[in-house]
Amino acid sequence: MLIIMGLNSPRQDIDRVKQKIISLNCMPHEIPGSSKLAIGITGPTHLFKEEDFQIMHSVQEVVRVTKKFKLVSRQMKSEDTIIDFGGHSIGGKELCIIAGPCSVENREQTFEIAGQLKEMGINFFRAGAYKPRSSPYTFQGLKEKGLEILSDVKSKLGLKIVTEVMNSQSLPGVCEVADIIQIGARNMQNYSLIEEIGAAQKPVLLKRGMSATVEDLLLSAEYIAAQNNYNIILCERGIRTFETATRNTLDLNAVPVIKQWSHLPVIVDPSHGVGIWDKVSPMALAAIACGADGLMIEVHHDPENALSDGAQSLTPKKFKELLNKINELAPIVNKELKFYETTNSL
Ligand code: PEP
Ligand code: MN
Repeated sequence: MLIIMGLNSPRQDIDRVKQKIISLNCMPHEIPGSSKLAIGITGPTHLFKEEDFQIMHSVQEVVRVTKKFKLVSRQMKSEDTIIDFGGHSIGGKELCIIAGPCSVENREQTFEIAGQLKEMGINFFRAGAYKPRSSPYTFQGLKEKGLEILSDVKSKLGLKIVTEVMNSQSLPGVCEVADIIQIGARNMQNYSLIEEIGAAQKPVLLKRGMSATVEDLLLSAEYIAAQNNYNIILCERGIRTFETATRNTLDLNAVPVIKQWSHLPVIVDPSHGVGIWDKVSPMALAAIACGADGLMIEVHHDPENALSDGAQSLTPKKFKELLNKINELAPIVNKELKFYETTNSL
């Protein structure tokens, strides 16, 4: 259920509506918007009637949200969510490009790649300190040491950090370093963890589980939004199908579907989606063409010797070529690629 009120409604009218919602054992959520004030209601809304609210001061409309996910739905908020990073934004016209190696392997490797990406005008750097690997015998990440290196990349190069958290014990440490907390495909349905991450009130990059439907993904996003954290970026990263020619099947259908069903920004990770480096650029371009708000791409200066996901990593040279093509394609889909001059002033 959604209560629509005028943007300039007196605070006392808004508070009265919120108090009534609480008295009915439900939760009110003020949803930021530019043309109207919306108060989302979660909880047992079937227990009361629209008329209970229609008669209240400043209430313009009461709408039943028919989707299972509520706060993240387009019905709840018609305009796109744009997440502001102080001069940089995700969602809206600007394309967001997140790039970097799969893992933080050591200081030299991380600074080498981060330095080259910075020179190209990239401002969101990805690298995992905690790695969810299918085999327990492969490289599991540098953990705390990896976070230290990422913290130095942030302070010395002024890049924004995107890194994964795998459990609640490491959440405080990740929160200190990350500008965006990544929730990996394997944890998309770890509801207690994603609730905790949502409550940390940091922007979240939520990757689609490899056997999750779009509805499952949006219901997971709902757990974060229910913590009053709307800074959620959704990520299509490929799903498991019968096809074995590629690591996963990149489900680009999900992009226009999510855009219709939700106001949240959606980006695409073609690196994990295809798993083979020379298929990454064509699928990255396809993702932009079908309306994605950005990309997450794995880049490594020495893919052959990478400790994880070398086979799907682009070299900095190939990545630069891709950026040039994205730059040409962007205006056709009414998007813009901005190259940033990052400062060391953080
Ligand atoms: C990653 O981004 O390196 C990663 C492990 O991704 P996913 O969770 O999509 O497999
Ligand atoms: Mn990876």
